[in-house]
Amino acid sequence: MTDTDCLFCRIVAGDIPGDKVAETDTVLAFRDLSPQAPVHVLVIPKVHSPNVAALAASDPALLADMAVVAQGVADAECGGEFRWIFNSGATAGQSVFHVHGHVLGGQQLGWSPA
Ligand code: AMP
Repeated sequence: MTDTDCLFCRIVAGDIPGDKVAETDTVLAFRDLSPQAPVHVLVIPKVHSPNVAALAASDPALLADMAVVAQGVADAECGGEFRWIFNSGATAGQSVFHVHGHVLGGQQLGWSPA
Protein backbone atom coordinates (compact mmCIF):
# COMPACT_ATOMS: atom_id res chain seq x y z
CA MET A 1 0.00 0.00 0.00
CA THR A 2 1.42 3.35 -0.99
CA ASP A 3 0.10 6.81 -0.31
CA THR A 4 -1.25 7.07 -3.84
CA ASP A 5 -3.20 3.80 -3.47
CA CYS A 6 -4.74 4.74 -0.13
CA LEU A 7 -7.93 6.83 -0.07
CA PHE A 8 -7.27 8.26 3.39
CA CYS A 9 -3.62 9.07 2.61
CA ARG A 10 -4.98 11.02 -0.35
CA ILE A 11 -7.38 12.92 1.93
CA VAL A 12 -4.47 13.73 4.27
CA ALA A 13 -2.48 14.97 1.26
CA GLY A 14 -5.39 17.12 0.09
CA ASP A 15 -5.71 15.25 -3.23
CA ILE A 16 -9.28 14.24 -2.31
CA PRO A 17 -11.52 16.62 -0.34
CA GLY A 18 -12.45 15.74 3.21
CA ASP A 19 -14.97 17.52 5.43
CA LYS A 20 -12.42 18.25 8.14
CA VAL A 21 -13.59 18.83 11.71
CA ALA A 22 -10.30 18.66 13.64
CA GLU A 23 -6.59 18.39 12.95
CA THR A 24 -3.31 18.16 14.83
CA ASP A 25 0.23 17.68 13.56
CA THR A 26 -0.35 13.92 13.53
CA VAL A 27 -4.11 13.29 13.40
CA LEU A 28 -6.98 14.27 11.10
CA ALA A 29 -10.72 14.03 11.78
CA PHE A 30 -13.30 14.36 9.00
CA ARG A 31 -16.98 13.54 8.50
CA ASP A 32 -17.92 10.13 7.14
CA LEU A 33 -19.45 10.33 3.65
CA SER A 34 -22.20 7.93 4.70
CA PRO A 35 -23.12 8.90 8.26
CA GLN A 36 -24.67 6.22 10.47
CA ALA A 37 -25.53 8.62 13.32
CA PRO A 38 -26.08 12.38 13.72
CA VAL A 39 -22.36 12.63 14.52
CA HIS A 40 -20.17 10.28 12.46
CA VAL A 41 -16.56 11.41 12.21
CA LEU A 42 -13.51 9.40 11.19
CA VAL A 43 -10.32 9.95 13.19
CA ILE A 44 -7.13 8.85 11.43
CA PRO A 45 -3.38 9.15 11.86
CA LYS A 46 -1.76 11.15 9.10
CA VAL A 47 0.79 8.38 8.56
CA HIS A 48 -0.37 5.17 6.97
CA SER A 49 -1.01 2.12 9.14
CA PRO A 50 -3.40 -0.64 8.07
CA ASN A 51 -5.36 -1.25 11.27
CA VAL A 52 -5.59 -0.39 14.95
CA ALA A 53 -3.45 -3.28 16.21
CA ALA A 54 -0.66 -2.46 13.77
CA LEU A 55 -0.72 1.17 14.91
CA ALA A 56 -0.79 0.18 18.58
CA ALA A 57 2.30 -1.96 17.99
CA SER A 58 4.22 0.58 15.93
CA ASP A 59 3.25 3.85 17.64
CA PRO A 60 1.03 3.58 20.72
CA ALA A 61 1.42 7.29 21.48
CA LEU A 62 -0.14 8.11 18.13
CA LEU A 63 -3.13 5.91 18.94
CA ALA A 64 -3.45 7.84 22.20
CA ASP A 65 -3.33 11.10 20.22
CA MET A 66 -6.24 9.79 18.14
CA ALA A 67 -8.22 9.12 21.31
CA VAL A 68 -7.69 12.69 22.49
CA VAL A 69 -8.90 14.03 19.13
CA ALA A 70 -11.93 11.69 19.22
CA GLN A 71 -12.86 13.01 22.65
CA GLY A 72 -12.43 16.58 21.43
CA VAL A 73 -14.79 15.95 18.52
CA ALA A 74 -17.34 14.42 20.88
CA ASP A 75 -16.97 17.31 23.32
CA ALA A 76 -17.66 19.75 20.49
CA GLU A 77 -20.49 17.87 18.79
CA CYS A 78 -22.30 15.47 21.12
CA GLY A 79 -21.83 16.36 24.75
CA GLY A 80 -18.64 14.35 25.17
CA GLU A 81 -20.32 10.95 24.86
CA PHE A 82 -19.53 8.74 21.90
CA ARG A 83 -18.83 5.28 20.57
CA TRP A 84 -15.42 4.68 18.98
CA ILE A 85 -15.29 1.78 16.52
CA PHE A 86 -12.35 0.26 14.67
CA ASN A 87 -13.40 -2.28 12.08
CA SER A 88 -10.39 -4.57 11.68
CA GLY A 89 -10.47 -6.85 8.65
CA ALA A 90 -12.93 -7.24 5.80
CA THR A 91 -15.26 -9.63 7.64
CA ALA A 92 -15.55 -7.04 10.42
CA GLY A 93 -16.56 -4.43 7.86
CA GLN A 94 -13.24 -2.70 7.22
CA SER A 95 -13.28 -1.27 3.70
CA VAL A 96 -10.46 1.29 3.94
CA PHE A 97 -7.17 -0.19 5.11
CA HIS A 98 -5.79 2.96 6.71
CA VAL A 99 -6.64 2.79 10.40
CA HIS A 100 -9.62 4.95 11.34
CA GLY A 101 -11.76 5.19 14.44
CA HIS A 102 -15.42 5.90 13.77
CA VAL A 103 -16.70 8.47 16.29
CA LEU A 104 -20.46 7.93 16.55
CA GLY A 105 -22.84 9.92 18.70
CA GLY A 106 -25.57 12.50 18.86
CA GLN A 107 -28.37 10.08 19.67
CA GLN A 108 -29.07 7.10 21.92
CA LEU A 109 -27.08 4.34 20.21
CA GLY A 110 -28.35 0.80 19.82
CA TRP A 111 -26.22 -2.32 19.75
CA SER A 112 -26.75 -4.32 16.58
CA PRO A 113 -23.50 -5.29 14.86
CA ALA A 114 -25.11 -7.87 12.56
P1 AMP B 1 -14.70 1.03 7.29
O1 AMP B 1 -15.80 0.35 6.52
O2 AMP B 1 -14.68 0.78 8.76
O3 AMP B 1 -13.37 0.75 6.62
O4 AMP B 1 -14.99 2.57 7.17
C1 AMP B 1 -14.69 3.32 6.04
C2 AMP B 1 -15.60 4.51 6.07
O5 AMP B 1 -15.08 5.47 5.18
C3 AMP B 1 -17.02 4.22 5.64
O6 AMP B 1 -17.90 4.52 6.73
C4 AMP B 1 -17.23 5.16 4.45
O7 AMP B 1 -18.52 5.72 4.44
C5 AMP B 1 -16.16 6.19 4.66
N1 AMP B 1 -15.66 6.87 3.49
C6 AMP B 1 -15.31 6.33 2.29
N2 AMP B 1 -14.84 7.26 1.48
C7 AMP B 1 -14.89 8.44 2.15
C8 AMP B 1 -14.54 9.79 1.86
N3 AMP B 1 -14.03 10.14 0.66
N4 AMP B 1 -14.74 10.74 2.80
C9 AMP B 1 -15.28 10.40 4.00
N5 AMP B 1 -15.61 9.14 4.35
C10 AMP B 1 -15.43 8.17 3.44
